[in-house]
Amino acid sequence: MNESIEQTLSIIKPDAVERNLTEEIKSIFKKNNLIVKDEKKIHITRDEAAEFYKVHQAKPFYNDLCAYLSSGPILVMILEGENAVLLNRKIMGATNPKEAEKNTIRNLYGISIDKNSVHGSDSTENAKKEINFFFKS
Ligand code: ADP
Ligand code: MG
Repeated sequence: MNESIEQTLSIIKPDAVERNLTEEIKSIFKKNNLIVKDEKKIHITRDEAAEFYKVHQAKPFYNDLCAYLSSGPILVMILEGENAVLLNRKIMGATNPKEAEKNTIRNLYGISIDKNSVHGSDSTENAKKEINFFFKS
């Protein structure tokens, strides 16, 4: 694998799956040279969401966050491309859709800070952990 080719984990969250936005969001990845290497549509349990978001367990929004991610089907994807981790974060936009740059996914589709349509790994180290969480070989 080329040095700068990375993989990152992307999740299309329940609010966007529910609004049938998966193909539109995937087309944005494709346009930005991020390839979907693997994907699956799943509905995770509250406990799985709590495990996935463990880093946020001390935050006041943790319980709501776990309830939300397990509230409906999600699409989890392995994205691959040059500098995929940072590039995906850039394409997603800021956590709060109100602060997200124009034409980012969260600017286009996010409803609120909790219903912000997508998740993306924030470092190469976390990307490996998160890919392994959903796509154990
Ligand atoms: P990001 O998803 O941009 O990496 P964080 O890792 O900081 O953001 O937070 C994880 C998720 O928790 C966010 O995507 C968002 O849905 C939710 N969240 C973050 N901050 C808040 C907040 N202040 N109130 C409610 N939900 C929040
Ligand atoms: Mg994060």
